[in-house]
Amino acid sequence: MTELSLRGLTKRFGRLTAVEDVTLDIPDGTFVCLLGPSGCGKTTLLRLLAGLESPSEGRIMVAGEDQTAVMPEKRDFGMVFQSLALFPHLSVAENIAYPLTIRGRPKSEARKRVEELLDLVQLSGLGDRRIHQLSGGQRQRVAIARGLAIDPRVFLLDEPLSALDANLREHMQVELRQLQQRLGVTTIVVTHDQKEALTMADMVIVMDEGRVQQIGSPMEIYRDPANAFVAGFIGTSNLLPCTLEAGGRIEVLGYRFEADAADRIKAEPGTGLILSVRPEDVQLAAPGEGLSAKVIFIRDLGESIQYVLDHDGQDIIALYAPSARPDIDLGDDVGVTFSPGKRVVFPA
Ligand code: ATP
Repeated sequence: MTELSLRGLTKRFGRLTAVEDVTLDIPDGTFVCLLGPSGCGKTTLLRLLAGLESPSEGRIMVAGEDQTAVMPEKRDFGMVFQSLALFPHLSVAENIAYPLTIRGRPKSEARKRVEELLDLVQLSGLGDRRIHQLSGGQRQRVAIARGLAIDPRVFLLDEPLSALDANLREHMQVELRQLQQRLGVTTIVVTHDQKEALTMADMVIVMDEGRVQQIGSPMEIYRDPANAFVAGFIGTSNLLPCTLEAGGRIEVLGYRFEADAADRIKAEPGTGLILSVRPEDVQLAAPGEGLSAKVIFIRDLGESIQYVLDHDGQDIIALYAPSARPDIDLGDDVGVTFSPGKRVVFPA
């Protein structure tokens, strides 16, 4: 069953449209990452879902029921804010119990639920501590436990891990994902970190300028980007000017090749198009083969080796696994080809 549905959801602030005509369905139990650059409308969309903003147009439905006009506390959505918004004057247990307290749930019920949640987020025994007596990761867990206190229908988190250092952040990504899988709760996490989105999500929603650019699994978004924005925003892509000839030949910087049946051609034949190729799909060849280029930079990244190539001022990036390292040095002239089936052509 489709749990959460948005229909034409739009939010305007004066003349600025922060969220524009968002229509999508999120199946029950899905882990969704809302991904996009700063200012693209992610937080506004999350706040609309939580009921903290009211839409200019459109509807929010949960299990077929219209929630658009329902007050935030009646939606039964859990929320974790970017700032965490924990109360310093309350203990850990009181913080976690807060959503139950304001809903007037009996003290005994709240106490039992807090114990369960402390156990769930691995903070058992720390219920009496104050917030300032906790580490960053522990505070994060308190905020997550508080968001889950009411056993929400939908769990919303706004950049929940952004304040943590890289190691703890990766650890918490796994922890959050495991917790979500155990509970099966539909979860929507706002992030501007594509790696975070690709590691955690079942479904990634890529936004730009208030509009949804693509919805798909991490693999679909990475392998089959809907447009040049998504290709450039997710991972690294070489975006090269190209021409698509009638009959399916592609010309890029003077190099012509037949498109493969598995290449994704998303434009009509014409000039001024964009060829998108991932660095791992760029092949170095002998000079004279493919596109001519010079190696201007080589960097050993540990798990891969990066080559920066120059063709008449146009950079092209190639990535090789250390085991497949080609016998090529800085300053060498090389040929460059692109793996058949891995090439995407977009309108500019
Ligand atoms: P970030 O990653 O930087 O938090 P975001 O993708 O979450 O960005 P939003 O916070 O949703 O972006 O903002 C989208 C646009 O709406 C921005 O241009 C922002 O300035 C504007 N905006 C957000 N809230 C308001 C408001 N209350 N009044 C006016 N404009 C707002």
